[in-house]
Parts: sequence; C-alpha cells; structure tokens
Amino acid sequence: MKCKRCKAPAAVALPSHNTAFCPGCYLDFFSRQVAKGIKDGAGCGFGKEPLFTQENRILVAVSGGKDSLALMLELSLQGYNVTGLHIDLAIGESSRKAREVVERFCALHSLSLRIVDMAAEGLPIPLVKEKLRRPICSACGKIKRHYFNRVALEEGYDVLATGHNLDDEIARLFSNVLRWDHTYLGEQGPLLRAENGFARKVKPLWRLSEFETANYAFLRGIDHHSMPCPFSKGASFNIHKKVWSDLEEAMPGRKLNFYLEFLERGRSHFAPACQKAEEALGPCRRCGYPTSSEVCGVCRIKEALAE
Ligand code: AMP
Ligand code: ZN
Repeated sequence: MKCKRCKAPAAVALPSHNTAFCPGCYLDFFSRQVAKGIKDGAGCGFGKEPLFTQENRILVAVSGGKDSLALMLELSLQGYNVTGLHIDLAIGESSRKAREVVERFCALHSLSLRIVDMAAEGLPIPLVKEKLRRPICSACGKIKRHYFNRVALEEGYDVLATGHNLDDEIARLFSNVLRWDHTYLGEQGPLLRAENGFARKVKPLWRLSEFETANYAFLRGIDHHSMPCPFSKGASFNIHKKVWSDLEEAMPGRKLNFYLEFLERGRSHFAPACQKAEEALGPCRRCGYPTSSEVCGVCRIKEALAE
C-alpha cells in the first residue's frame, strides 16, 4: 500500500478515513486533526468558538498513558503554552511507574510539570477503597476531577485539557444513551465552559481514535505507562468499546459520524436538564467547590478516612 499523499510506502492504514499514510504524512494528518478539533470543537451546535488559543495557559492532565502524553507533546509542538498536571494516586507499583514515566517525559521535552500526591493529601486510593467498601473507580474519578479543577482554578490556568479520545467519548455517549441520562447527555462534548466554581475543560483529541493516538505515540517514540490499573477490572466501558469496534469495522467512519451528529443535532435537546442540574449546585461547606449536597463527595471521603 502507498501513502495517499506522497506515494511513499504506507505505514498506517486508516479505513475510517479511507486512506493510508507514510510516517511523515501520518504525523501531519494527526496534527491537522488536533488543530481542527481545537478550532471547531465547540462549533457544533453552539456557534464557533475554539477550545483555546495560543494566548491561553493550558493545564494538561497527564496520567502517563499514551493519550495524555501524545496530547501534551502535540500541543507543545503546535506552540501552545502547556504545563502538565499529574495526580499520583498512590496505588503501589502502578502509580510509581506512571509518575516516573511522566517525570521522564516532561524532563526530556523540557515541559513543566505539577504533581499532586494523593498520599500527601490524605487520600491514597488503596485506603479510600478499603474504607468505602464499594467500587473504587467512581470515587477515584471524582477525586481526580476535583484536583484537576482545583489546581486549574487556584493556579490561574485558562483551561484544563484531558487526553480523552474518540473511543472514550463514544463509550461514554453510548453508556449515557443506554441510561437516557439527560443531564450527562446535555453536557457531553469536547468543551465544558468555565462557570460558577468549574474551570473550562477541553478534550482536544476528540476527533482521533485510540488506534490513531497509539500510532502517533509509537511514531513519536513516546515511552508510556501501559500497566492497567489493578483496581479497574471488568469496567463496563470495555464492553461498549467492543460493540463500537465491531460497528466501526463493518461501517468505517461510523464512530466519528455518530459523535459529530450527536454534537450537531442531538445534544441541544438535553440542555434543559443541564440547566436544572446547575441550578441545584452550591458551594461545599468544607472546601467551597460546587456540589449538589452540603458537603462534596471528596470532603465526605476525607471525613470517612479520618473516622
Ligand atoms: P482515564 O479516565 O484513565 O481514561 O483518563 C482520561 C484522562 O484523564 C487521561 O487522558 C488524562 O488526561 C486524565 N488522567 C487520568 N488519570 C490521571 C492522573 N492520575 N493524573 C493526571 N491526569 C490523569
Ligand atoms: Zn468539599
């Protein structure tokens, strides 16, 4: 097979775009998709507004996985002002490795990095798991999002970026549709604007699949952390991803189309549910960050650990 652009031998075939590229042209393709995702990520259904601009200070949440590292590298190569934020979850060997990978990556590319250590914050995840006696993934997610938001706001960043890719977005959309969760459907997308107590949040890789990001990370020689989290066995998201990978194989391009059409035609129907959920939010009595009850989930976890 030959590269569609320069006719050199192709290294990556992309059935969903009906094309194939050599390594150099593939990296160009990836950059253009990220740039397009930034330029019109919010365009769909909202009116045009870029996710962020060259003037913004961007905090990139880097887990050590290939998606967030690929995102951080690509944004820095495109000239954006990026700082990494790593949450050390204190899950033994897995967290030690992840942190090491992120530190090495940032040193290698001369990128600044901010680390928040959950053990030092009194919230080491294994202890949280032991105390809560229920599946840890949702609590861990809540804790991570709390610190993403907090660091972005307290340290004056304009926007918080995560490495979520098209497959992540599709799996989430599918799961929200299966439950007809109006509130989540109304706010799902590559951009969440800043508002009362929430930092602006963006997902610049929303047009790119996991496969496409993995190829980018490979071609750029990104050394990443691939050890799965020891606590996340059997997440239902993996089942959704499998359904979608079968659909995509049978109908190349379906994933991106489904997501784009949701943004353009579906999402606005759920906006009223979001409005209601927002109105029900007030500041947490302990930390001041928005919550729908008196004390937020993270402060309640802290209290349970202190008992
Ligand atoms: P996940 O929910 O693990 O698929 O991660 C989704 C995104 O959240 C990643 O691409 C990162 O941007 C961010 N993220 C997840 N875990 C961490 C972490 N421990 N520290 C910083 N960012 C993270
Ligand atoms: Zn709180």
